[in-house]
Amino acid sequence: MAQVQRMSRLMIKTLRDDPADAETLNHKLLVRAGYVRRNAAGIWSWLPIGKQVLENVARIVREEMDAIGAQEVLLPALLPREPYEVTGRWEEYGDLLFRLRDRKGGDYLLGPTHEEVFTQIVKDQCTSYKDLPVMIYQVQTKYRDEARPRAGVLRGREFLMKDSYSFDTSDEGLAESYALHRAAYQRIFDRLGFEYSIVSAVSGAMGGSQSEEFLAPAAAGEDTFVRCPSCGYAANTEAVTFKAPTVAAADHPAIEELDTPDTPTIETLAAHLGVPASATLKNLLVKVDGEIVAVGVPGDREVDLGKLGEHLAPAVVELVTAEDFEGRPDLVRGYVGPQGLDKVRYIADPRVAPGTAWITGANKPGTHAGNVVCGRDFDVDDYLDVVVVEEGDPCPVCGTGLTLARGIEIGHCFQLGRKYADAFQFDVLGENGKPVRVTMGSYGLGVSRAVAALAEQTADEQGLCWPREVAPADVHIVAAGKSLQTELALSVAERLGAAGVRVLVDDRAGVSPGVKFTDAELIGVPTILVAGRRAGEGVVELKDRRSGEREDVTVDEAVSRLT
Ligand code: ATP
Ligand code: MG
Ligand code: MG
Ligand code: MG
Repeated sequence: MAQVQRMSRLMIKTLRDDPADAETLNHKLLVRAGYVRRNAAGIWSWLPIGKQVLENVARIVREEMDAIGAQEVLLPALLPREPYEVTGRWEEYGDLLFRLRDRKGGDYLLGPTHEEVFTQIVKDQCTSYKDLPVMIYQVQTKYRDEARPRAGVLRGREFLMKDSYSFDTSDEGLAESYALHRAAYQRIFDRLGFEYSIVSAVSGAMGGSQSEEFLAPAAAGEDTFVRCPSCGYAANTEAVTFKAPTVAAADHPAIEELDTPDTPTIETLAAHLGVPASATLKNLLVKVDGEIVAVGVPGDREVDLGKLGEHLAPAVVELVTAEDFEGRPDLVRGYVGPQGLDKVRYIADPRVAPGTAWITGANKPGTHAGNVVCGRDFDVDDYLDVVVVEEGDPCPVCGTGLTLARGIEIGHCFQLGRKYADAFQFDVLGENGKPVRVTMGSYGLGVSRAVAALAEQTADEQGLCWPREVAPADVHIVAAGKSLQTELALSVAERLGAAGVRVLVDDRAGVSPGVKFTDAELIGVPTILVAGRRAGEGVVELKDRRSGEREDVTVDEAVSRLT
């Protein structure tokens, strides 16, 4: 027996007009169709049918997480300051973090993401290599004091996230846990009915490490990404910065290369260049593992070697200088986002040795949870000459013209490496009796955001249009008439419900058929069944919400088709 919901008893109030403050489609439609109500900027209430959609998404996520062997837990959202102090994120999160104080004056925060707490829990529970690998997850409310929570449910200050974490003893193990999550995410987003791209979120400069985002193309998206129509390469424009073609020394007479087996410090680099370590350099190109990580261009932009060294040492393995970068705008790429590109950020990659760094154009101010762990912002004008990635720019893999699209980040998989295990000194006893440092992955998925993103991707002029697995019901029955129609509608609803079909039946008295039809389109259940003019003959109309195709069929035929 599946659920039969009668609209005459359901707490649902649809609205004719868009809310005054709504800018995005998901905001307008989810409010108008009675799924959510806004309490304050970025803070939302989920009403009955909204809660059902949210639960449907969460259920699919849980099923696929369970299927890869991840175990569900629930950690607190209210967290003590100390673990976030250990990793430095208490400070680094800046204004994004909700901090609060208890009656005794102790500092607390509302968790924006949970790497610290999961590391602590697993360190406590797992002490031997035999206890690993382990993957654990939660579906939990997260808090981030977002600067511009104006995209409806897409960007909440309180929102529901599924976050999972993997713990392994080897790089191969981490790669496996990552692959399992990646495949689970693909199944989740396929089941949810998303159109999406998997894009690389950071440069290839980090060797085997990986970070990928799942982006759902939509006009309301706040990420911009490039796609190559021929080889399938896809990357967040933030990551394209790193994909700039490298310049081989041999191709460029003005380039000198420092090739050293030892990892050079900034002093070595300065000595090689014949400048003091405090020098400010023009015409500087720094590469790590063949990838450009920093560039100083001629003219008024310069790189302060000392500052660079502070962040790059000891990762710089190659330094080249060029006389002139004129005519090589492809060397540096950035992205001008909605707020304009105003920041360049040095990021310590948690997946490689401590102290290493790379540079990226960041399209959003503030820290980037999950990977900006030791972030530090600089004004772009001080460091980089920025060229916007444009439609038609050559693909860094095959050279074909790239296409540019807007997307919503619905998920993010990240190989963290040993960053957090280092911070918490998390070792397990290895097979040979020696301690082994644990390596981690973290995998976020926006559950509430997925609801909003689906609304953005699937809605049409009439309203919402849910994929079946997500919809609050399989069939929306409209009683379009008087008691005859209502009785027929309720009896069909009962038969369908008994057969396991989820039904929403509009049996409201005193509401015109026209209003009921409009509401059915707005609410967006995939199949609409109308008990109307021909109810007396036992004939109903079946309508496909997406295609609009309609057909008169007998009640028996309708029931057999829908069960
Ligand atoms: P964004 O770039 O949109 O700010 P993020 O990169 O900061 O997202 P992550 O830290 O990677 O987000 O969090 C994992 C997932 O949580 C994201 O992929 C997204 O689906 C979801 N998410 C992040 N911030 C929000 C938010 N403010 N409201 C709703 N969902 C969010
Ligand atoms: Mg963010
Ligand atoms: Mg992001
Ligand atoms: Mg992210």
